Amino acid sequence: MHHLSYILNHLGENREEYYGAVSPPIIQSSNFAYQRLADFRQAFASEFDSHLYTRGNNPTVKMLRQKVAALEGTEEALVCSSGSGAIAAAIMSQVRQGDHVVCVNAPYSWTKNLLTSYLPRFGVTTTFVDGRSTADIAAAIQPNTRVLYLESPNTLTFDCQDLAACAAIARAHGLTSMIDNSYASPIFQQPARLGIDLVIHSGTKYLNGHSDVVVGVICGSREKIEHIFHHEYMTLGPIISPSDAALVLRGLRTLELRLHRSNTSALDLAQRLEAHPKVQQVLHPLLDSFPQVALARQQMSGAGGLFSVHFAAKTKEEMERFTHRLLDSTRFSMAVSWGGHESLALPTVAFYGIPGRPDSPLPWTMVRLYIGLEDPNWLWEGLEEALQELD
Ligand SMILES: *Cc1c(COP(=O)(O)O)cnc(C)c1O
Repeated sequence: MHHLSYILNHLGENREEYYGAVSPPIIQSSNFAYQRLADFRQAFASEFDSHLYTRGNNPTVKMLRQKVAALEGTEEALVCSSGSGAIAAAIMSQVRQGDHVVCVNAPYSWTKNLLTSYLPRFGVTTTFVDGRSTADIAAAIQPNTRVLYLESPNTLTFDCQDLAACAAIARAHGLTSMIDNSYASPIFQQPARLGIDLVIHSGTKYLNGHSDVVVGVICGSREKIEHIFHHEYMTLGPIISPSDAALVLRGLRTLELRLHRSNTSALDLAQRLEAHPKVQQVLHPLLDSFPQVALARQQMSGAGGLFSVHFAAKTKEEMERFTHRLLDSTRFSMAVSWGGHESLALPTVAFYGIPGRPDSPLPWTMVRLYIGLEDPNWLWEGLEEALQELD
């Protein structure tokens, strides 16, 4: 097992191959040429292990694959053009017509779309279960179940699953277990070490961390990753460009620093908010008040920057005034996504009154906060100011 500092700063970087440059070159080439028939034949025979064409392998992308596999403690990894592409490739690699998936309630919205609206076209069905109950997960397994899909914690209510128990259930029933590990990042949670087969990330969030690339990764055994490579990856083509891969490699240099900074600041602000009279509830998996805090502390060594707050607002208009005051403080921006350098606020009230859409099923008192890399005291000033709008 490599030291985290070695992985982020050196692993996969064979500097003697490129003049000793400390920052690796971007191999911006779609194609790789051969001078001898024997070499070409060998490359063609095992595209997974050679450089033939960038839809399969590219040296810059390969460097990134090696680093994320090491971060999750798996043999191999693939890097995709988005987290959703990685999720779709991973699930589709394990199912065929007539198969069944068990998935935890309320996964990422486009994962839910894949399972409820896209895959049924090909005869693949899904049962959603309350993942907080290992017994409910086991009870949902059918003879045709092939996949157990987890998201722990999820990115809204932060419900957790007992990963070691889920891995054992999946193994006992011959299922492939997979998890969306975007929330915790490999810095704070490494599900493969608890027996989960495939670990997936929206690398758009923490792995890249600078809000300038959309990227996904799948980590797992060489057998499973090579299968995905030869089928979904080469056929559907969800690859990342070498230049985007280089940006993610740069983002990884500071992964550990960024995650610890966000984690400390978010816990601090979550505690300050919890103590405020205008706050009804704070949902953060590492707060003492969180229903699954014991499990969260057992399988995660930190939580990063994302948590949710229910404010004691009496009207939607009050929440709208709170939102605008917070945004006008120039300390938070309103946006989807998270995991970058900048702090964000996503108020549920934004999902009320959208033309042609039903109102959000979530209460308008809720705001999801993402705490980035700024000074937490400076961020608190913005929150305190906005809280004055609630009476
Ligand atoms: C953003 C996100 C995704 C989707 O990733 P993209 O890179 O946007 O395709 C999947 N899961 C979670 C938990 C996310 O936050």
